Amino acid sequence: MEYGGTALPPLPPLNYDSPLALRKFLAERGLGAQKKYGQNFLINRDMRNRLLDALEIGEGDRVWEIGPGLGAMTAGLLERGALVTAFEIDRGFIALLEDFFGANPGFTLVAGNVLRTWPQAAAGEYLLGNLPYNIAALLLGDLIEGKRFFKRMVVTVQKEVARRICAPPGSRDYSSLSALCASAYRAYPLRSIPGSCFYPEPRVDSQGVRLDRLAGPVSGGLPGYFVPLIRRLFASRRKMVKNNLRDFILSLPAWNGGEQGAQELSAGLLEKAGIPPEERVERLAWEHFIALARLLAEITPPLGEEEDTHVHP
Ligand code: SAM
Repeated sequence: MEYGGTALPPLPPLNYDSPLALRKFLAERGLGAQKKYGQNFLINRDMRNRLLDALEIGEGDRVWEIGPGLGAMTAGLLERGALVTAFEIDRGFIALLEDFFGANPGFTLVAGNVLRTWPQAAAGEYLLGNLPYNIAALLLGDLIEGKRFFKRMVVTVQKEVARRICAPPGSRDYSSLSALCASAYRAYPLRSIPGSCFYPEPRVDSQGVRLDRLAGPVSGGLPGYFVPLIRRLFASRRKMVKNNLRDFILSLPAWNGGEQGAQELSAGLLEKAGIPPEERVERLAWEHFIALARLLAEITPPLGEEEDTHVHP
């Protein structure tokens, strides 16, 4: 393959599909798969290609890769001509990745904990990640809350997290993560990935999820109260919205209307937002949270600046 007229350096001489080869390779370098970093390598080429295909990228597209590990997906992204910014925490892997891909002008490595490093990184158009189980939900929430959006994200997560991301209002798995993702993306579940597709084999199954960015008029702007509101309301998702909303209002530093006032305001906001008075949090769509957040901002402005952060076609 050519990159700007120059032949690309060869891809790593590592058989990513062989647990034996990976184990030997890691042992020779004094490395191992660390549980604390959720290091399970996707050793099934077909699954890797399906995830890469789902991203639908072309030559020159800027892709963030979260947790490249030994670089199996990185190699696939570079082969497709992507410009990759890879975020990796493991020092041993960082050195390997530099060896493997450092000479490739389309490869940039960001060393450290992605939860801390992403705000400084140059923007990407796409995101790919076989996400470590302990940071998956946190990272997706942070990116949306931090208004760092992508045209498309393809992530591999634990099945239970995949269900939460894709869950519609009123369903068993509907959570603050579902509402947060739905406010910016349309989420599609991809194939489920059995533990046997990974080395070392995890106890739980995983699943791919594709998230396509919603465009302009559908999503509108994200009011400042939106994220704090859904986080607070979902703390008790089976309760009635009016009671949780009252507590949220009472927790606002600027609120001086007392408990009775908060109760009345909560009932009034529900009515204005077209939400039935006895409705439960778990049945609200993201548009309801947006409506409530906008109404709140009209009354108590400090948190509520409107920001139009969405992509307009
Ligand atoms: N992409 C590889 C694959 O699919 O075979 C490895 C995926 S493995 C499940 C997760 C990767 O994320 C590991 O390389 C791990 O070191 C890295 N990782 C874990 N926590 C991280 C964090 N907070 N910031 C950046 N990378 C992290």
